[in-house]
Parts: sequence; C-alpha cells; structure tokens
Amino acid sequence: MAEKAVILGAGESGVGAAILAQRKGFEVFVSDAGRIREPYIELLHSYGLPFESGQHTPEKILDATTVIKSPGIPDTAPLIWQCRAAGIPVISEIEFAGRYTRARTVCITGSNGKTTTTMLTYHILQKAGFNVGLAGNVGQSFARQVAEKEFDLYVIELSSFQLDGMYDFRADVAILLNITPDHLDRYDYRMENYVDSKFRIIRNQTAADTFIYNADDPIIVKELEKYTIPATRLPFTLGEPPSLGAGTTGNIMIINSKTKFSMSIFDFALQGKHNTYNTMAAGLAAAALNIRNETVRESLADFKGVEHRLESFLKVHGIEFINDSKATNVNSTWYALECVNKPIVWICGGEEHGNDYSELLDLVRRKVKAIVCLGRDNSRLINAFKGIVNDIVDTHDMNEAVRSAYYLASDNEAVLLSPACKSFDLFESYEDRGRQFKACVRQL
Ligand code: ADP
Repeated sequence: MAEKAVILGAGESGVGAAILAQRKGFEVFVSDAGRIREPYIELLHSYGLPFESGQHTPEKILDATTVIKSPGIPDTAPLIWQCRAAGIPVISEIEFAGRYTRARTVCITGSNGKTTTTMLTYHILQKAGFNVGLAGNVGQSFARQVAEKEFDLYVIELSSFQLDGMYDFRADVAILLNITPDHLDRYDYRMENYVDSKFRIIRNQTAADTFIYNADDPIIVKELEKYTIPATRLPFTLGEPPSLGAGTTGNIMIINSKTKFSMSIFDFALQGKHNTYNTMAAGLAAAALNIRNETVRESLADFKGVEHRLESFLKVHGIEFINDSKATNVNSTWYALECVNKPIVWICGGEEHGNDYSELLDLVRRKVKAIVCLGRDNSRLINAFKGIVNDIVDTHDMNEAVRSAYYLASDNEAVLLSPACKSFDLFESYEDRGRQFKACVRQL
C-alpha cells in the first residue's frame, strides 16, 4: 500500500510539500481549515492533487503515514493532538523536503534579521557562481524546488515554527542571529521553549558543519553552555575579532577563518548596527563556503536591501521617509531608532500582546521628536510615551498617519514607520502596511 502524506495548510509550503510528496509516490491529501487562496487552488488542480478547503475531515487525515504541517498551525491544535495520539509523525515541510535532496544548506534563524541575512547570503552565493536556490520563508517553498529544480546549495530562512517540526534535518551551515522574545503565545509564554526552538538549528550537525552565532547575544551565549557542539563555531561580535569568527576593530570588520578578510563597515550596503551583525553573519557563511574575498567584498557593497526593512524610499521637501513595516516587535524597532541619525517622527503601533516599550525609552527621549500612533487601539503606546514626547497623535488609518507625520516633520528630519507591532488590526500583512505607507507618502 502506498504511503499517505496528509498536508495541513495549503499555502506556499503546503502546496510545495504536496507536489513533492506526489512526485515521490505518496498518496496525497491536502486539507486547509481556512480558505485556500486562488493561485494555490489552481496549482492543486493542475497537479491533480485532492484537497479540501474550509474544513478538516478527520477520516481523511488520520489514516496518513506522515502529516506535514504548515508552520502557521500551532502544535496545540486539536487535530495535531489527534494525529500524534494516532502515532502519526507530524513534521514540517523543510524536514520533508530535506529527505529528498543532497544539496548543501545554509540555514538562517533568529528573532530578527532572518530575511535580510538570507537575501544577502543568497546574493553573495549567486555572485560567486553557485547553482543556489533560495527557500524557507522567502520565495518558493523548499519542497517545490526539491521536486522541480536541481540546485547544489540552498539558502533557507527558518522560523521557529518551521524548526519545531524538524527532526532529522541537518544544516551544513547554521546561522543563529539573535534571540529576543517573540511569538511567545505559541510557546506557552515560556521563553525557554522559544529558545529551545531556535537552537534546533544546530540539531544533527557534525564536525564537518559550521555554526555561526551572535556572541553579543546574552541569551545565546548562556544557552551555549548547555550544548556540546561538534560543528566548527564561528561567532560574530561588534567587539574585538575572535581568532576564529568575525568582529570589529574601530570601523573595520574583520573575519578570521581559513583566510583573513577586512572591510570598512561604511562600505557595507546595509547600514546600522543590526545590519553590521547581519553582514558579519553572511560574511562568515561565505567564508565557511570558501568564497573569494573579492567576491564577498563586492557583494557586501552592492546588495540592494530588502523591501519593508529600513527602506529609505523617498524624500519630500527634505524629509526622508523610511519604511520599516517589517519591524513587528520591539527589538527590531530598537535597531531602527538606533540607526536613524536625525530627528525622527515615529509612526508606530498595531496589534500587540503585551509589548514592553521601556527598552525604547532612552532612544525615544534622545531621537524622537513626535509620535504618530497608528493602530485600532493606541492606548498602551500613548501611556508608555506620554510625558516623554510632547507631540503624540492618535490615528487609525495610514493616510491620516502619514499626513500627521508630514505636518510634524521638518527639513532634514525623518519620518520612520517602524511599528514594533504586528499589522493585523488594520492591515492584511506587514507588506500591505508598508505598501500603503509608500503609496500615501507618494501622494503628498
Ligand atoms: P525577519 O525575517 O527575522 O523578520 P527581517 O530581515 O525581515 O527579519 O527584518 C525585520 C526587522 O528587524 C526590520 O525592521 C529590520 O530593520 C530589523 N532587523 C534586521 N536585522 C536585525 C537584527 N540583526 N537585529 C535586530 N533587528 C533587525
């Protein structure tokens, strides 16, 4: 009897997993409790893949030999309990796809900076002439590419939700950027569960592999004490360069690996402290893959950046508009405020679950001239910053927020959208929020 793969969740990763499972001879069934988006319905039809939308039918699911779960579905969902109780392994799409490729992998996780570092690493590897694919949270799913393409190497962005469903997968190069509280609602509100999840990035690594991590991150450093790590460790720090790893001396980044590489941080395409970390991590991955210094230098300098991440996109009457819509937690906004070097009119707010704004107070006092709150309910933000900043405006749609910010800002100042909150109270996604921001600014 054919093995049966049931795929729960028909987004990019689910449909990719279904295509791969079909190709590998599984009987396949796709089930999504929500409405499957039109392009994915078309794709399922075109591959002749059976599916249901808007419901989960237990009888069609509980006879699976493998369940591949979308990262969006929490482990606590009743159906997942049922699958586990029935002894069915529940894995992620990355775990599944990893079983069917011998390509090497560079895997990147962290609370912030994943996409930026993934794209930068991919850019370096492309320039170096590798036959390289880009997968995970960005672009086409890993599974679909494994089914249909022949890459030698993949750069894969991994969220903690994907890592949770990974067991036998092994990263040749693993990058752990940072760990700050995020998504705790999915981890029983226990930070240690979230930290454990992030550390799954080094699971199964051997002495032939490489582990790149942030040595300035107190949570990572503390957690490392618990692990015996066979892989080559390449730490990065803004402090003195370690004998093996990356660091800075003055404004020069130095990478010590098999060869030595140095470059002024002012020549990096990505500016700001957080981006120096991301650049060091990508540079170390390049070093681990023995890429020529000249290629690395060129790539770190000419990278174009990623939309919605500190994207400075327009100047209107000397006011710089910066779209950092992807800053959906306090830590990423901290870095945004830190790296903008002019008075800031800060647009922030959205959906949040108990954000602690106190760590922003110092930067806000020093740099923020006015705050434009943009959310359905701005009361927590207003309470956090009243008395710290004089001008605080309460707005509930993007146009109103942009107009208020424009009114409050002057020549040589910046309007920064860096919400520190998720977008779902007023927008479809952070991309939608960022695009609306840019559209409203362009109408000024
Ligand atoms: P992720 O994919 O992990 O969400 P992104 O690269 O999309 O990360 O960046 C998300 C947000 O975090 C952006 O607002 C960006 O400016 C900020 N950011 C990027 N890199 C870092 C970092 N190393 N530390 C903290 N914040 C960062």
